[in-house]
Amino acid sequence: MSIQRTFSIIKPDATRRNLTGAINSKIESSGLRIIAQKRIQMSNTQASEFYKVHAERPFYNDLVSFMTSGPVVVQVLEGENAISAYREVMGATNPSMAAEGTIRKEFAENIEANSVHGSDSDENAAIEIAHFFNKDEIVG
Ligand code: GDP
Repeated sequence: MSIQRTFSIIKPDATRRNLTGAINSKIESSGLRIIAQKRIQMSNTQASEFYKVHAERPFYNDLVSFMTSGPVVVQVLEGENAISAYREVMGATNPSMAAEGTIRKEFAENIEANSVHGSDSDENAAIEIAHFFNKDEIVG
């Protein structure tokens, strides 16, 4: 067990439905701490870069336009094994496959508009956090 940081995004489908607080409540109830947070509008360049691993997938353009369709809340979460812990709280990518009690089961609209993002590795968490937060914005 180790204390890790992970990067989270509350996606436009969730901010549009006023679910930021409900999602934060699930995050905090799981024991993870929200140690940095801001609401931003992602640019087309930022979203394209963020999801570039999916650039060859048929849904890439739709995904970029979804992620820029409204404000998102970017966050740094900290806790024991935060990366896998948050993936568990999020639930499966496709909400129809997500376990009961997970954010995606409860709130996601569909496989694309699935309410939250969470890093999938320590390395990606560090890259994603550095992309959206300056060091002085993470106060613990
Ligand atoms: P995640 O790590 O669970 O978010 O899943 P992925 O890294 O596989 O996919 C990134 C994001 O792309 C997902 O969270 C969805 O918003 C979107 N996505 C994934 N698979 C599909 C798909 O088959 N169709 C569409 N339209 N979007 C998808």
